[in-house]
Amino acid sequence: MELYSGYINKLIEELSSLPGIGNKSAQRLAFHLINQPEERVRRLADTLVDARSKVRYCSDCFTLTDRDTCPICANANRDHKTIMVVENPRDLAAYEKTGKYEGVYHVLHGAISPMLGIGPGDIKLKELIARLQKDVDEVIIATNSSLEGETTAMYISKLIKPTGIRVTRIASGVPVGGDLENIDEVTLLRALDGRKDL
Ligand code: ZN
Repeated sequence: MELYSGYINKLIEELSSLPGIGNKSAQRLAFHLINQPEERVRRLADTLVDARSKVRYCSDCFTLTDRDTCPICANANRDHKTIMVVENPRDLAAYEKTGKYEGVYHVLHGAISPMLGIGPGDIKLKELIARLQKDVDEVIIATNSSLEGETTAMYISKLIKPTGIRVTRIASGVPVGGDLENIDEVTLLRALDGRKDL
C-alpha cells in the first residue's frame, strides 16, 4: 500500500539516498519541504543545481572551487614549495581554519583501500606527482590515521622518496580512525608541528 502520494515517495527516496540521511530523516525533510512556500523550495533547488554545475576542481590542488585556480593556490603570499596532502576538501578546511598553515595543499579525493577496491589510480595521485616537477621543498602527508590513510601515506612516501624531496607525516596525536575535520585546532597544529620525516 502506498502511504503517501507518488511525489512524496519519490522525494523521500531521493533524500534518503544522501549520505547520513536515513528513511526517518528523509521523511521529516520531505514534509518540511512540502510545507515551505514554493519560492523557497525553488531557491533551494536552484542553489543545488548551481553548485553542481559551477563548482569544479582547482587545476592545481584539486580542491573544490568555482574558479580555475582556488584562492589558496592563487595567493602569491602562500609558500608554494610546501604541499600538504589531504584526503578531501573538508580536511583542507580544517587546517585552513587554524590560520597557521602557510603552504598549499593537494586534495586526493579519497584514500587507497584494497578492501573497497580503491587503488592509486582512483585518487588524485598522478596529479600530485606531476606537481613535484615544479620547485617543491616538502610534501606533508596529512591523510587520516585510519588504515586507508596510513596505507596511502606509505604509498606516497615510497613514490616521492626517490625524487629527494622531503616527505613528512603529521604526528599521530590524531586519534586512530579519526577524521581530521572532527579534530580541534590545537591538536591539528600539534600534529603539524610534530611531523616526522618518512
Ligand atoms: Zn588550489
